[in-house]
Amino acid sequence: MADSDTKETKVKITPRAEDFPRWYTDVIAAAEMADYSPVKGCMVIRPWGYAIWETVQSTLDGMLKASGHQNAYFPLFIPESFLKREAEHVEGFSPELAVVTHAGGKKLEEPLVVRPTSETIIYDSFSHWIHSWRDLPLLINQWGNVVRWEMRTRLFLRTTEFLWQEGHTAHATHEEAEQEVLSILDKYRRLAEETMAIPVIPGVKSDSEKFAGARRTHAIEALMQDGKALQCGTSHDLGQNFSRVFGVKFLDAEGKEEYAWQTSWGVSTRLIGALIMVHGDDKGIVLPPNIAPLKVVFVPIWKNDAQRGELTAAASKMAEDLRAAGISSRVDDRDLRPAWRYYEWERKGVPLRIEIGPRDMEQSQVTMVRRDAEGKIAAPQAGIAATVGRMLGEIQKGMYEKARKFRDDNTFTVSDSKKFAEILTGKGGFVRAPWCGSAACEAKIKEETKGTIRVIPADAASHPGKCVACGEPAAMSPLFAVAY
Ligand SMILES: [Zn+2]
Repeated sequence: MADSDTKETKVKITPRAEDFPRWYTDVIAAAEMADYSPVKGCMVIRPWGYAIWETVQSTLDGMLKASGHQNAYFPLFIPESFLKREAEHVEGFSPELAVVTHAGGKKLEEPLVVRPTSETIIYDSFSHWIHSWRDLPLLINQWGNVVRWEMRTRLFLRTTEFLWQEGHTAHATHEEAEQEVLSILDKYRRLAEETMAIPVIPGVKSDSEKFAGARRTHAIEALMQDGKALQCGTSHDLGQNFSRVFGVKFLDAEGKEEYAWQTSWGVSTRLIGALIMVHGDDKGIVLPPNIAPLKVVFVPIWKNDAQRGELTAAASKMAEDLRAAGISSRVDDRDLRPAWRYYEWERKGVPLRIEIGPRDMEQSQVTMVRRDAEGKIAAPQAGIAATVGRMLGEIQKGMYEKARKFRDDNTFTVSDSKKFAEILTGKGGFVRAPWCGSAACEAKIKEETKGTIRVIPADAASHPGKCVACGEPAAMSPLFAVAY
């Protein structure tokens, strides 16, 4: 096997306990998910990483279409003057803008901004599309890329260019817009929890953390294995801030002119960073079956060519049965030692490996190995699709439960400011603590502990107390954490 041995390159993954950021970078490389590019801060998404993103896309796209949203596409470039029209919006984004000043060999009359988000250019279109209350609600989604010039980048978590979807809607009343914001947030929660097995906490952002130009920002937050939080999706109530600036108006049923109430919302390739940091282990990434591009891999283990043919044929037949049942699977019959084939799929996080050797064949069985657990399980070849289907369901559920237990075990309710700082500057986690509502206290907390308000959850008001920053009465306890 001299030829094939050259492919068996050694892959090193730093243990999580030794250096978590290093581990993160190592598993992405080991799973062949993404690379840094020649352009600083930009990312090359390799096929395995992109296949995961495609599952995110198809899952969410299905949910959005079911609720009447339509996909459209708007330009990558935005006239600079558009961005300047909404004061808060431009202030929030201007440090991160990439601007095109020259094109076609000439200096442009007006510089073009490479979109950091598309509110302004999309609402210019909305102002032409919307005339009467009959045109509402307008429910638009765009799948695309955006550019935000980042100083410190990390694959999937923060890159200069990233992929996302951005939804933009217009409604006749504020109530309808608020309903939309919450219904989208719930779709994001389902995507995270049901598809990616990532437990999340929904809530409202504080004013200092809200989207630039929004009236109110809702978000879902998840806890990573290193005790830091990651924002996994946001949904904004824009009020009439943009409709007034861009003239998104309609005639109501009485013929009176009104400004539309708007929302915008998005999730990005950041979700893949969350997936890695919530489920990964020291052997690589671990994919929940519902998001895995490949759910099952068969590894035939032969000693000679005759066996190789027989085992591969049996595995191929079973793989076909799985595919007929809607379970993606493949047979890895590459001329590599079995252990090398195991490691590769382990690093890539494939939920279930099915080994088949001569002894399995004699007994009409297979040997299954779950990626999320130790040990081997023998199962009959007959009825393989039903057995595998059941097991994938167990893996999905088990991974969610495990992540939720970790999250719950690392969520603390404190009233003492010393204890509060101790957790945030120490092992981390979510900390529910009283806050008086002042931006000054929020800033002080951030300076002293690096902790920020991740969300104000629905039950925040049921935990009043004394502000952990100033000691004054606090009507609620938001959720704090150090965040990515
Ligand atoms: Zn305070």
